[in-house]
Amino acid sequence: MARAPKIGLVSLGCPKALVDSERILTTLRAQGYTFSPDYDGADVVIVNTCGFLDSAKAESLDAIGEALNENGRVIVTGCLGVEEKLIRDTHPKVLAVTGPHQYEAVVNAVHAAVPPVHDPKLDLVPPQGLRLTPRHYAYLKISEGCNNRCSFCIIPSIRGDLVSRPVASVLYEAERLVKAGTKELLVISQDTSAYGVDLKYATSKFHGRDVPAKFYELSKELGDLGAWVRLHYVYPYPHVDAVIALMAEGKVLPYLDIPFQHASPSVLKAMRRPANQEKTLDRIKSWRRTCPELAIRSTFIVGFPGETEEDFEMLLDWIEEAGIDRTGCFEFEPVGGAKANDLPGAVPDEVKTERWERLMEVARDVSAARLAQKVGQTIEVLVDDVRPADNVAIGRSKWDAPEVDGTVILSDAGGIAPGQMLSAIVTDSDEYDLYARPVAAN
Ligand code: SF4
Repeated sequence: MARAPKIGLVSLGCPKALVDSERILTTLRAQGYTFSPDYDGADVVIVNTCGFLDSAKAESLDAIGEALNENGRVIVTGCLGVEEKLIRDTHPKVLAVTGPHQYEAVVNAVHAAVPPVHDPKLDLVPPQGLRLTPRHYAYLKISEGCNNRCSFCIIPSIRGDLVSRPVASVLYEAERLVKAGTKELLVISQDTSAYGVDLKYATSKFHGRDVPAKFYELSKELGDLGAWVRLHYVYPYPHVDAVIALMAEGKVLPYLDIPFQHASPSVLKAMRRPANQEKTLDRIKSWRRTCPELAIRSTFIVGFPGETEEDFEMLLDWIEEAGIDRTGCFEFEPVGGAKANDLPGAVPDEVKTERWERLMEVARDVSAARLAQKVGQTIEVLVDDVRPADNVAIGRSKWDAPEVDGTVILSDAGGIAPGQMLSAIVTDSDEYDLYARPVAAN
């Protein structure tokens, strides 16, 4: 029998791109392909690119070059795929270029490069698909595209307007994942709180019940599956308030990832941000009254065109007053094709860097103060990794998303395994992490 063809994959970019890679792999695996962890063993290499910032484009072009040097047979997909000319001008030897979410086109390009070999033993694929994240957590993509038009962003021109998945399709996928051992579902999209708008909130049947494609109902149904449910890319629209009540009930993790990007009304206006309401601070305070455990993660852009020192100081005060638990910060970078590039009032690079440093200092202080409040508490920890030589395990609390947030460093970690959920008492904290000791099970 012929050897199963082997595919290499380089996945760049955000969790949304990771989900695309997983879908491509799942389809190919179902068709009998296997995968190679290195360039040498692969018959062809797929590079899933990111094209969001110019720095990400450069990284993607470098990755394509590396794959060509190391292997020679390369198929390009993902966000940068919309710039086929740029890719082909830089790397004329690539075999095919496809854009984001063109799963079929990628798979066809793979077929053209290395035809599939049918083998019923190899064609089997686990029902939950193949994932690139560890078994115990999984990203759940609920929609593609975005109806907003933020002036610094080209995602809508790459990915189009919002297209939500039917709610039953999302729920069945989530259920399969949980049955296969997933303990944490990370809900992702470009604008999670807008879920279902394009479907006019149409219902679909989940185990015979009509469920509307709405943010609240989706969150509630996911919460009933028994895994941690973490919500990313939420905007502070009024209907988010009801989901905070689900957090207080323990159905959904008390965690919100809201990319606020700024706090000054004039900068937010120039950014054309959705849900740009003056009352956001009041809303956050009322959320914290409903769910005192709530942790908020956010990202901010400093040095946006027209940002004055006054705007920036307003942002620093706002981060402190809102008590943003987890902060990411970027210096404004013009993205080819974005409207913000034409705005007046460019901020010099050294001012951007200085503001970035000042913001991160404030963010660290806020984070450290909020984490210090957890010392002495008994918390649930999901273990990601163990280091037996040090008798230490690395896990996360309900307030930490993988990859982007802090961790919980567990001492006395003998007998602990990745994927385990356990109780631990917090003994110390620093700027980003908690330190804890497992509580012996009865
Ligand atoms: S909400 Fe704004 S930043 Fe986010 S994807 Fe949509 S347009 Fe881009």
